[in-house]
Amino acid sequence: MEKETCTSELSTILNKEELTKKDIIFLLKLNKKEELDKLFKKADEVRKKNIGNDVHIRGILEFSNHCKNDCLYCGIRKSNLKLKRYRIKQKEIVEIAKNAVNKLEFKTVLLQSGEDDFYTTEIIEEIIKSILNECNCRVALSIGERTIEEYKRFYKAGARRCLIRFETSNKKLFRKLHPSSSLTKNSFEKRIMLIKELKKIGYQVGTGPMIGLPGQKIEDLAEDILTYNKLDINMAGMGPFISHHNTPLAGNKNGTSEMSLKMIAITRIVCKDIFISATTALQTLNKLNGRELALQSGANLLMPNITPKKYRELYQLYPNKVCIYENPYDCANCVNKVIQLVGRYTGKGYGDTLRK
Ligand code: SAH
Repeated sequence: MEKETCTSELSTILNKEELTKKDIIFLLKLNKKEELDKLFKKADEVRKKNIGNDVHIRGILEFSNHCKNDCLYCGIRKSNLKLKRYRIKQKEIVEIAKNAVNKLEFKTVLLQSGEDDFYTTEIIEEIIKSILNECNCRVALSIGERTIEEYKRFYKAGARRCLIRFETSNKKLFRKLHPSSSLTKNSFEKRIMLIKELKKIGYQVGTGPMIGLPGQKIEDLAEDILTYNKLDINMAGMGPFISHHNTPLAGNKNGTSEMSLKMIAITRIVCKDIFISATTALQTLNKLNGRELALQSGANLLMPNITPKKYRELYQLYPNKVCIYENPYDCANCVNKVIQLVGRYTGKGYGDTLRK
């Protein structure tokens, strides 16, 4: 009887036009296989109807692992003195981008790094302009917090997308995870303000939380999903928290693949037309088919690594990261296989947002 009640409540919720926080919490608590299958199937239908069958590819270039921040979860945090640090030179960054776009046919180059002021406003501007001069692609930035003025200049230089996660919508937890210093003043409010300003400048903005952080509750995850629509963002990037041995969160439990898939599926059902990525962190927890399952539960983006092999081992935000012994060609082949395997197509255009 109890099972029937739950199943009929599930059907009612899945047929609703808009979900409340209570509905989202109900869905996040599902754990029976047939119920989860129902949730994932619904998300897949919503994806197909609102986004279609294209899977877009963003080539991610991890150009520096220097960071002035000390985020408690992150393997490249400033206080990790065991890590050898690297910075890729401007010219090499442009060469790597050229290879990814002109040879591997990727349409977006996502530049990611720690928060590294060695790359001044002028240098980042030059990198964006040189890439756009030589390649027919979009440039996306994932370089952390910079001033609004800087982001305006990057937009003027041609960058059109930004990826900056809010990490968790639980303000208290955010504060715990992001210590401020004389160099960095971190707060949830500041992060949200920046995301809103980036939207105003005209960027297509991607954001999201980590899933399964120590101290994070189901209610927090539900609030994370509602935050997407509150901020009217274009893309959701979220993955499981994975504990890193050289951080203060060493020894904590990792997030799970199942909760990450539920988050993807519910986000798809709630937000409908945003882009959602199948993240590397999820692939790391489920090497066998994490990306395939994500694409079948609402996701429509893949982010293969285009960083040269020699740097990859040094950019482990979390341990056992996938693909550190591969090169960009391997990763390009691999994503195309994944897309074929799930019976979808590689997006042909730039893969710009459908949500204007
Ligand atoms: N410095 C940039 C890029 C951050 S790296 C910025 O601050 O925006 C990209 C994302 O990796 C982070 O935003 C965080 O959500 C995620 N990440 C970092 N450490 C992690 C860990 N231990 N487990 C899972 N994800 C992690």
